[in-house]
Amino acid sequence: MSDCIFCKIANGEIPSEFLFEDENVVAFRDLNPQAPVHVLVVPKAHHENFVDNVPAETLASMEAAVRAVAEKCGIAETGFRCIMNTGTAAGQTVMHLHMHVLGGKPLGEGLI
Ligand code: 5GP
Ligand code: ZN
Repeated sequence: MSDCIFCKIANGEIPSEFLFEDENVVAFRDLNPQAPVHVLVVPKAHHENFVDNVPAETLASMEAAVRAVAEKCGIAETGFRCIMNTGTAAGQTVMHLHMHVLGGKPLGEGLI
């Protein structure tokens, strides 16, 4: 996807600092953080969302990335929230699968 911002970041076309990288995914800080820790875990391949035929290896890499980011950012013990907005009604604005990892402050008990 030539005009997809997350394709460009994940494939190095736009230089970014990665907190985690393997063959399938990268993790980098959100441009507009909603919490002291706000990291996006993004597959290198373009999938529109979580239910867009994402290979099992990519899902495993996303889980490894979340674990590594949580350790690196010091939120593994305190807890954190993972969010994947799926579709416009959910507020998805970048149509390339990404998982938000949020933490570093009390996030409240509700889902939204
Ligand atoms: P969504 O609303 O699609 O779930 O979340 C998209 C997220 O991507 C937003 O939190 C937004 O701040 C972030 N974002 C959009 N463009 C960029 C960018 O170019 N770089 C980074 N690091 N984050 C971005
Ligand atoms: Zn993309």
